[in-house]
Amino acid sequence: MCQHNPDCPAADDPACQAAVVVAPHPDQGWSLLCNGVVLFEDTGALLPDGSSIAPQHLSSPVTA
Ligand SMILES: [Zn+2]
Repeated sequence: MCQHNPDCPAADDPACQAAVVVAPHPDQGWSLLCNGVVLFEDTGALLPDGSSIAPQHLSSPVTA
């Protein structure tokens, strides 16, 4: 699976978005990480188990 050194964080790790990009798709706005996480250019992410991580808009007002 992961052959990087040090190992990439697992998909269920809080730092999962720090894994190595193995398949960048900048034209489509997302990248596949080594641990199976899909990272979007808006900083959101989709985990292999189907759950998602909301984008971080630190400087934007919350509209939800
Ligand atoms: Zn890796």
